[in-house]
Amino acid sequence: MDRHYLSPLFNPGSVVVFAGPSAADPDREPPTPEARALRHALNDLPPGFALRWLDIGTSGTLADLAASRVDLAVIALPPEQVGDALEVVGRIRARAALVLSSGLPPTQCAELQKTAQHHGVHLLGPNSLGLQRPGLKLNLSTLGPLAAAGPLALVSQSGALTAAMLDWAQHHAVGFSAVVSLGPNTAVELPQVLDFLAADAGTQSILVYMEGIRDARRFMSALRVAAYSKPVVVMKAGRQAAGSKVAVTHSASMVGSDDVFEAALRRAGVVRVRQFTQLFSAAQCLASRFRPAGERLAIVTNGGGPAVLAADWADMLGLSIAKVDDLGEQAGAEAYVQAMQAAVADRSVDGVLLIHSPKFSVEPLTQTGADAVAAAVGKVFSPTAKPVIGCWMGEASARPAREHLAALQMPVFRTPEAAVDAFNSIASYYRNQQLLQQTPPTMSEGAAPDTEGAQLLIESVLAERRQVLTEIESKALLAAFHIPVTRTMLARSATEAMLIASQLGYPVVLKVDSPDITHKSDAIGGDAGSASAVELDVQSAAQVRDRYQQLLQRVTRARPDARINGISVQPMADRGREVYVGVASDEPFGPVISFGAGGTMIELIADRAIELPPLNAFLARRLIERSRAAELLRAWRGAPAVDLGPLERVLLRVSEMVCLLPQLQQMDINPLIVSANGVVAVDARIVVSERGGSREGSSRLAILPYPDGHDHEWQLKGGDRVTVRPIHPDDAEMLQALVRGLSAESRYFRFASAMAELPLRMLARFTLIDYDREMALVAVAAPRETEPAPTALAAKAADPPPPPAHPNAAPGRIVGVSRIITNPDGRSCEFSLLVADDHAGRGLGSRLMLSIIEVARSKGLAEIMGLVLSNNAAMLRLMASLGFKVARYAEDPDFRIVTKAL
Ligand code: ADP
Ligand code: MG
Repeated sequence: MDRHYLSPLFNPGSVVVFAGPSAADPDREPPTPEARALRHALNDLPPGFALRWLDIGTSGTLADLAASRVDLAVIALPPEQVGDALEVVGRIRARAALVLSSGLPPTQCAELQKTAQHHGVHLLGPNSLGLQRPGLKLNLSTLGPLAAAGPLALVSQSGALTAAMLDWAQHHAVGFSAVVSLGPNTAVELPQVLDFLAADAGTQSILVYMEGIRDARRFMSALRVAAYSKPVVVMKAGRQAAGSKVAVTHSASMVGSDDVFEAALRRAGVVRVRQFTQLFSAAQCLASRFRPAGERLAIVTNGGGPAVLAADWADMLGLSIAKVDDLGEQAGAEAYVQAMQAAVADRSVDGVLLIHSPKFSVEPLTQTGADAVAAAVGKVFSPTAKPVIGCWMGEASARPAREHLAALQMPVFRTPEAAVDAFNSIASYYRNQQLLQQTPPTMSEGAAPDTEGAQLLIESVLAERRQVLTEIESKALLAAFHIPVTRTMLARSATEAMLIASQLGYPVVLKVDSPDITHKSDAIGGDAGSASAVELDVQSAAQVRDRYQQLLQRVTRARPDARINGISVQPMADRGREVYVGVASDEPFGPVISFGAGGTMIELIADRAIELPPLNAFLARRLIERSRAAELLRAWRGAPAVDLGPLERVLLRVSEMVCLLPQLQQMDINPLIVSANGVVAVDARIVVSERGGSREGSSRLAILPYPDGHDHEWQLKGGDRVTVRPIHPDDAEMLQALVRGLSAESRYFRFASAMAELPLRMLARFTLIDYDREMALVAVAAPRETEPAPTALAAKAADPPPPPAHPNAAPGRIVGVSRIITNPDGRSCEFSLLVADDHAGRGLGSRLMLSIIEVARSKGLAEIMGLVLSNNAAMLRLMASLGFKVARYAEDPDFRIVTKAL
């Protein structure tokens, strides 16, 4: 029942091969280099494996092949024959196909995808180097010999690199559960493979080498689920410089696509590395289930130089050095053990780096030698406590020491930099896992925004064929979302400016309002400073009159062709620290929010911390902390630290704008002045476009907000009340409690297995969902009087302290769950339903089903279906009463398939 739809590809029970004459026919040449490589690979299949060679001409045996439904077809024919082969694959009703043939142009690849889709075949390739499943002894690749079996899965978008990594791995005794080389035109893409690996019991960690993605939403969804169930390490090629080409705002021009990628990976709970050897070392560190780690590293060393290298590199990576314990050249095993234990016990230390550099003045076999120190350290090292990372420097002399420690599961390296990288992986893993668990809603707390007013304003600007809002318009939009702005009004004469100024109160600021002058403070060339289109600190009516004229003259002289709407007047804000909040639109990730030090020098300072919307308070706080401006907001030059609350609220409001205003493309609030009195936007610039105008704002987001509009209160037969709402990651414990409390029969009916509780990986999959392809509604009842508080989940107890609970997290217990997952065909979905035993027969199941059917309908799906155990009479009755058609399930007589058109 929980067999993954890609099982036929990755766990095939039967395979047919299209690769010319079989290996049993050694005289005849294979038609392609891929066919030759495959022939070699297949020689190592386990004896008795169900393999058949086919060629595109055979027709006689197709009928019985079709009847038995082979799992996988592998094609390694010349490009011009691949299409015909895939047709045969469709006719014999194979479930999946792997095309190793290479050199196929994109148009032909698109054709193949269509054929595969038509026949319902999951297609990996063409131009793929194939896959290996070492645990199954299955080598369906042109990558060379089968890799050793182990706990790591490797997925790569580059063939050449896959081969290089396998070569490296072979020499470093690294083993794999799966190796998948995707190629550029494959139908089964990275997200689908991640889906499979997340659920694959043989895979403990996932390593990804990637170059690009097509569908950000799909990618983020799969990556987040995978990273929630097991460590995922990503190496991404192509660090581009900052700067999108059409940026009209500062923040948009500062945000590069690699920054966005970085932010997306972080939010997905993934660790990113830069070199492929780091892929493996990061995976190794994350596999040693260390306790959560902060960023403060203690260094224990017998030499100053290596410690300095380590400290420098740690500083580069933004880690902090808690202390350096230089034991001196003569340090022996005893000194190392004591220093390590002291550091592990020290609460101001999050991780320990032990550096041993060889000392050739002493005999290798004495107490100071690499081996002796490693042996002593190894005796007291525990891989489940605070991270301890080793760096035994030296080549052959230190190798046995390294091997000894590695065998005890200590991550151990040859260079200080590699060791610090490893600690950084651990620290960022735990940091990012906290980001991953956030499920922010669309709306921030507090007053509802004037969305309608904002839409009207945007439409009127677009109707004038403009895309860039003036400062006054931009501020009006911010005000509609309750972001504090300086009230700003347009004056067309000096007299008008005086009238406005005396109403606003002095001092005021005058600025030129012109669509042709983007950066007002450097609107005019020449000697900087005075040559500005901004007049600050205007103290009186007389000054307004004089400086109005000076400003206008200065601008018209320097920019005679500029269209000038007038001069805007606004109060002078209190002095404070200047920051900015920006929005840029990325391809493919959609809108991103940036934050950093602001003011007129913004591009020189180039401070940009980035996060993907939607934001909640936790994410907003982390965003601020990642910026360099965070330093500026602490106590500074005698001024006290700034209260971050108001700043966070602005970020949440900006997130809300991004979610609710589909036309919003770019935005600068620069500067936002932060002072003891709160925050205020004194300048703003917003860029809108028609694009996506018809779509709901959140549909362009890579991560969907926690859905609203699904919350209900229901009264059940017997009078009890339950609250119904979408599931979120904080529900994991309550969901586990529900499963534990089920009768053996109910558990069997739902999961078709005898498990007593959900494995963590399933628990993760069930509670962290994308609300796009998948939706789950939980019914929460008041806790039972006698119920003990939910105990922390055993293995998750090692995870970071939980971030602030979800706003919807009410105490109680889950008594029912209904769920739908969109099928790979994109038009139908599969449901599941679970009701607590003490709530059965009270109408809860049918109401949960009706609600989830409504969700499926609103997503535009055409059909809802599910599998029900044939002996689950109550469930089959319920389905029939809801109008489902009940039929025999051809693939497994233990089940009925129930379907309903939507
Ligand atoms: P630009 O188009 O150059 O970004 P701004 O409107 O941001 O022009 O003004 C430039 C600088 O003037 C700001 O960075 C800020 O320091 C200062 N400034 C502008 N408006 C105000 C105001 N209302 N109160 C206080 N300072 C202001
Ligand atoms: Mg500005």
